[in-house]
Parts: sequence; C-alpha cells; structure tokens
Amino acid sequence: MLVSAKEMLTKAKAGKYAVGQFNINNLEWTKAILLTAQELNSPVILGVSEGAGKYMCGYSTIVGMVKGMIENLGITVPVALHLDHGSYEGALACIKAGFSSVMFDGSHYPIEENIAKTKELVALTNQLGLSLEAEVGAIGGEEDGVIGGGEVADPNECKMIADLGVTMLAAGIGNIHGKYPANWTGLSFDTLAEIGEKTGTMPLVLHGGTGIPEDMIRKAISLGVSKINVNTECQLAFAAATRTYIEAGKDLEGKGFDPRKLLAPGFDAIRATVKEKMELFGSVGKA
Ligand SMILES: [Zn+2]
Repeated sequence: MLVSAKEMLTKAKAGKYAVGQFNINNLEWTKAILLTAQELNSPVILGVSEGAGKYMCGYSTIVGMVKGMIENLGITVPVALHLDHGSYEGALACIKAGFSSVMFDGSHYPIEENIAKTKELVALTNQLGLSLEAEVGAIGGEEDGVIGGGEVADPNECKMIADLGVTMLAAGIGNIHGKYPANWTGLSFDTLAEIGEKTGTMPLVLHGGTGIPEDMIRKAISLGVSKINVNTECQLAFAAATRTYIEAGKDLEGKGFDPRKLLAPGFDAIRATVKEKMELFGSVGKA
C-alpha cells in the first residue's frame, strides 16, 4: 500500500531500527526495491529527487508506475513515495500528483524563511495525511546540482523546526552525498546525541548513507536515526554489474542484447544492495 511514512517511522524510532529510503530512477529500480521489501517483509520508502522526477517524465508518471506495481506485484508491505530534497514548488507539485510523503529542503534559506515555508507545508500535509521531512544544516556533497557544504546542524534550530510538527527531520552531522573522500572525519555523534535529546521522539533522517561504515550506521540508529537514505550505492552496484555483463561479451551472445537480459544483472545487484541495507538497518520483518 502507498502510505505516509509517519507510522513506519514512529515504529522504527520506538523499536530502534531504521527504514531505508531507496531512490528510484526507472522501472527496474522501482521493481527491484519493491520486490525486495516484500520478500523481506520490510517497510520501504521510495525516494524521488526533482531531477529523477524530470527524468521519469514527471510526478504523475511516477505515481502511476508505483501504484501499478504495488497492485500488479501484490506488494502488501507499507510503501511511502517520497520527494527527496524538494523545493517548495516541487513539494506542492508532488502533493498534487499523489505522492504520500515529501521533503522540503529549506536548509539553504535563512532559518526564519526555512521555518515560514516549513510551517505552511506542515499545515497542508497534516490536512492531507501525508508525511513531511524538513532539513536543518545543509548536507555535504552534490545531489542533482544541489551542493551542500557538509555543515553540522545547530541542535537549537533542529528543535525549532521539529516543534513545527514535521514528521521527520534531516540534520547535517557531517554526512555527505555521494562517495566519501578519504579524508572524511566521520559523523558527529555528539551533535546527533544533542539533536536527539532536544527533539525527543522525532524520527531523525540520515542522508548520504552510501559509504558510511556499518558501525557508524548502527551507532546513529541507536541515537535516534530512523530513516536512512541510500542512493549512490544502488547506482554503483547497477553500473558494476552491467559493466561485467558487457565486458564478458554477454550482450553479443544469442539474444543477450535483449534489454530484459541486458538489465537483469544490474537489477539483481540493486536487489542485493537493498537486502544488505535492510538487514543492516534492522527493518527486516517489521512491515
Ligand atoms: Zn539527501
């Protein structure tokens, strides 16, 4: 079922595990993630960046595809369809198209403006029964042209945004999007602990899940992270598997050029990555 992320994240926070947000790019991505969630009886969040939204023709196409797959594949675990790093206008467009969850990333605005815009979206999403993610302290690296400096969020600002009534809160704690550089200094657990104390039962979101060591992931979950975003890792796994297939010359054998065969290794690689993450996050069997 397509549902808001509120219930699954409230349960995750209370149960000390995290629900994975896996970003989608096309039919293969979506199918791989949904089938894996169903197989593992795990709740799941499908993330869509504004760039990926444009790539997939627009938000209505995505809503149609995801709802169709949930029906045709017999998916019964809770699925949230979520806008990732949305602009204010993007959030409104996704709400209109039928997304069950949106993120408004106002982290690049002065805190007063972030609060004002977040407040408006809280009222709208509450009224419609949708979940809303807000962000404080830009997350480093680049995601679809949005470049963040890898800030560490101010815990007091986190409390101000959490108190507006958002469903979940992303806070920069030294995490970055994409591959981590060799000189990365790690997550700031002191900041995370302070944010956790100030925001109470608010589910916290960790962006840039690719490449954070497993022990840091576990520690972050123990300190209140209930949603972890995974994007780059599925892309790397898909690309590597596709490269192996083509370099082995398999596309030149028989009907190996058939896209259903050509894309199969990448599809399987996404499934394996999602499975590994759901096991690490502890969401298996929690649907
Ligand atoms: Zn992010």
